[in-house]
Amino acid sequence: MKVGKCPICGGDTKEDIVEVQEMIEGEAYIIKGVKAEVCVQCGERMYSLDEMRRIEKVREEIRNRVIKPIEVRKVAVVSL
Ligand SMILES: [Zn+2]
Repeated sequence: MKVGKCPICGGDTKEDIVEVQEMIEGEAYIIKGVKAEVCVQCGERMYSLDEMRRIEKVREEIRNRVIKPIEVRKVAVVSL
């Protein structure tokens, strides 16, 4: 992926490895090691089609319980 422009604010984007949070069957999962283009101004993330397909595959594996968490984190929930 090449350096592009953010569709939200027009800022420059740079490639980064990020964590994607997903709710799957009422449980929070964090998918690590996701490649994204991140806007340096507003933080908007853009994923390539390939990467979105990989994420969808992992979601499927989580649903089918064929993938095990590599770590379990404690998540605190607060009210606004
Ligand atoms: Zn932006």
